[in-house]
Amino acid sequence: PADAKVTKLAGDFTFTEGPTWIKAGGFLVFSDIPQDELKQWKSAGGVTTYRQPSHNANGNTTDSVGRLITCEHSGRRIAIQERTGAVKTLVDSFEGKKFNSPNDVVVKSDGTVWFTDPDYGLKTNPTTKQKEGREQPGNFVYRHDPKNGRTAALVKDFVNPNGLAFSPDEKKLYIADSGAPKHIRVFAVSSDGTLGASRIFCTLDQGVPDGIRVDQHGRVWSSAGDGVQIFGPDGRLVGRILVPESPANLCFGGADGKTLFMTA
Ligand code: MG
Repeated sequence: PADAKVTKLAGDFTFTEGPTWIKAGGFLVFSDIPQDELKQWKSAGGVTTYRQPSHNANGNTTDSVGRLITCEHSGRRIAIQERTGAVKTLVDSFEGKKFNSPNDVVVKSDGTVWFTDPDYGLKTNPTTKQKEGREQPGNFVYRHDPKNGRTAALVKDFVNPNGLAFSPDEKKLYIADSGAPKHIRVFAVSSDGTLGASRIFCTLDQGVPDGIRVDQHGRVWSSAGDGVQIFGPDGRLVGRILVPESPANLCFGGADGKTLFMTA
């Protein structure tokens, strides 16, 4: 709407990421990665600590029954919080090797968990400038099926895959590359859960695409250097929300799902 405005809800964090709306509780969960905390925000009461330590949590989402699923940089895993509150490992390796530092995650309606694994969370050796502790041969995009425990590497040619989101009919998957390409690619999703042909959907003119979300009309909302950039299903830029600090991620939430939350 023309009268929509940006409101600052809270500040004094270090690097915020991974906002996700918890429907059952009516609150927002987000990550402060360097502070090793998951935070929560409620319209009544503001910000409190949700989970600490978070193992440097980054991206968050919920599954079909509302369980919180979290990417952990230092945990190098995808974690799931049961309704009892217990946090357990959903998946932490592929072909016997640890992930780099899982960054962002979405759950498909069939329960499969799709996530990206760039190397931002690995320490850089000051002398060699190489990432330390790397076990995977690249920065891949994965699908994990909790029903059978199987994990597949779906895409291997990203520089640093980051946010990802399905189209409303789940026939397309958008994946951001926040490395040098600074673009979002769109893939055809096959019924067997593999990915088909891809093309470049859009390239950002400010900053890099990090977190992305798709709305009910199939528009893609991407964090960007100047705020949030919104692209039509055809990839054309249709709007910008200017924000004084660069958002890294965003999500829809609130009781009616019509509020956009941004972590910047
Ligand atoms: Mg991210």
